[in-house]
Amino acid sequence: MTEDVFAFNADIAQLMSLIINTFYSNKEIFLRELISNASDALDKIRYKSITDPEEIETEPNLDIKIVPDRTNNTLTITDSGIGMAKADLINNLGTIARSGTRAFMEAISAGADISMIGQFGVGFYSAYLVAEKVTVISKHNDDDQYRWESNAGGTFTVSPDSDADKLTRGTRIILHLKEDMSEYLEERRLKELVKKHSEFIAFPISLKVEKSTEKEVTDSDDEADKKDDEKKDDEPKIEDAEDKKEKKTKKIKEVTHEDEILNKIKPIWMRKPEDISNEEYGGFYKGLTNDWEDHLSVKHFNVEGSLEFRALLFLPKRAPFDLFESKKKKNNIKLYVRRVFIMDDCEEIIPEWLGFVKGVVDSEDLPLNISRETLQQNKILKVMKKNIVKKCLEMFIEIQENAEDYKKFYEQFSKNLKLGIHEDTANRTKLAELLRFSTSKSGEDQISFKEYIARMKDGQQSIYYITGESKLAVAASPFLEGLRKRGLEVLYLTDPIDEYMVQQLKDYDGKKLVSCTKEGLELDNTDDEKKKQEELKAKFEPLCKLIKDVLGDKIEKVVVSTRIDESPCVLVTSEHGWTANMERIMKAQALRDNSMTSYMMSKKTMEINPSNNIIAELRQKAEVDQSDKTVKDLVWLLFETSLLTSGFSLDESSQFASRIHRMIKLGLSIFEDENNADDDLPPLDDAPVEDNTNAKMEEID
Ligand code: ADP
Repeated sequence: MTEDVFAFNADIAQLMSLIINTFYSNKEIFLRELISNASDALDKIRYKSITDPEEIETEPNLDIKIVPDRTNNTLTITDSGIGMAKADLINNLGTIARSGTRAFMEAISAGADISMIGQFGVGFYSAYLVAEKVTVISKHNDDDQYRWESNAGGTFTVSPDSDADKLTRGTRIILHLKEDMSEYLEERRLKELVKKHSEFIAFPISLKVEKSTEKEVTDSDDEADKKDDEKKDDEPKIEDAEDKKEKKTKKIKEVTHEDEILNKIKPIWMRKPEDISNEEYGGFYKGLTNDWEDHLSVKHFNVEGSLEFRALLFLPKRAPFDLFESKKKKNNIKLYVRRVFIMDDCEEIIPEWLGFVKGVVDSEDLPLNISRETLQQNKILKVMKKNIVKKCLEMFIEIQENAEDYKKFYEQFSKNLKLGIHEDTANRTKLAELLRFSTSKSGEDQISFKEYIARMKDGQQSIYYITGESKLAVAASPFLEGLRKRGLEVLYLTDPIDEYMVQQLKDYDGKKLVSCTKEGLELDNTDDEKKKQEELKAKFEPLCKLIKDVLGDKIEKVVVSTRIDESPCVLVTSEHGWTANMERIMKAQALRDNSMTSYMMSKKTMEINPSNNIIAELRQKAEVDQSDKTVKDLVWLLFETSLLTSGFSLDESSQFASRIHRMIKLGLSIFEDENNADDDLPPLDDAPVEDNTNAKMEEID
């Protein structure tokens, strides 16, 4: 008999030693993981048999059997699923590590619980929580029966299996239990575990149990029985009956073994919602997702009419570790057709932004042999998807009734809602109602658009927002000064995805969303205010012109501001270009295509504050002498500081530093001689005004 020895993949070996050596009391989850694998294997053969009916004929009975054996101290779990060919045993159970292997170990070292193992796709190895050696015997229709075996320690063996007890098809996992694990041979304990973790598995799970019955037999009957029993492997235990010699009968205790079905096989989604308790939903959810916590919310419904399907949708309490990993196979919604599992990665049934919703959908109308190629064009799926999105939205709206739950939900999944706003035009308004914001007036709380509108000032036409890196940064932004003074509330949008969201969400309930950092913010509406503004504009016209001349192409234009109240100036961006915050986000994207950058990096407009005394003084100085050197120097300093306060990055920081140093020297009354004073400082008035934007544009051309 040839036995091949293989080394475990290094990550898997590390994972196994972590499982074996970590002190962890909740070892019972191994059974849930192995039953879940068995159930997946059964789903696979049933699905395969839709197109190849003869595949199932090798073993038409689809079930899972659990057999405890006290004599040998083993626990055996057998399924009649698809089985594994020799190559599958080698690849799936040892040599090919998946991304979840490392991710799981990282999660564990970050304090996660071992019971999360199934969510990372490495559930099989949980067998080593209770077993010192694991034997896997498997028979796939396309191969002979093979035996995989390992007592951890870095290697495993695979050999043809000559076990007398041949499998017709499927997999048998024999756990050689560690010495102190005999609790997992107890009938009561195994029943409790299946009930707790695997009650809703859609295939029968049976447990081999001992039944003892007393029966009265005559001596001769007894002999006959004994012979019978020798043929079976059950052993009758004989007890002496009371002294009834004269009748020649005996009472014997007969021990038989039988398979007892432990789970309810009827799919939970086929039952009436009013008959299902929250515990039952929780049990089903945990079995479905391998989550160790209950769901946050559930929606169980059926759609009837021209199209018929049932669905059970769950909202988890936490986002998974790989929520936005685009390459990941999505397996959140299991698609069934008339109770037959079809697939768990059907992207056509739920949009990407709802990728965190888990559940089952069971269609009455789809053909059983629906192929992947035709999924996209399938009209039934399209309608199902629309209904599922609708129900998910209903579920989110319902959660709002419980503030605490909604907070949890929003913390975990607000990014998804925002992605939804970006992508789902039809549901944009409904989704906008679900948003919550910190604002310039909300303190620690977060408010909805509805609440914002309810407390808008008389005559306020727009919803104001500011985007930025953090709540702290935007709260201190000079862009808010004018709005604060007028008592206007401003939404703080500090999640990078907010920038993308507001590109699509232009208004809410008839009120325009207006950025505080872009052009087009009009705050003065009364005629008086407008008149005053016109006067100021005229008065500061020469200064504006001078600043523009000094800064050249660094800025588009200079205007008198209404949005600032204290700061001397800010830099605003054009209405359709990027904000400073968007520029920052785009620069940080490692794999970004640069070709759009110069095009989208919008020209900045400098807004000056006429009531600020620096600006007022500058205006006077400029009036006296247009070519005043200090004025030019100060204009550059003002420009560079406002780059920073407006959220841009400083491209030429050394020049800025030199200018500041010169100011410091002035403050300290250090006057160096003319020759070396400015060694480190470019002469400001004749420093070439470099136009970065144009330079970049030329490169592209
Ligand atoms: P997961 O089941 O999450 O993919 P596991 O580590 O539990 O990860 O199992 C690894 C792989 O081994 C499975 O994807 C499957 O291909 C195979 N496997 C495990 N158990 C069985 C089984 N009982 N029958 C058939 N294949 C199985």
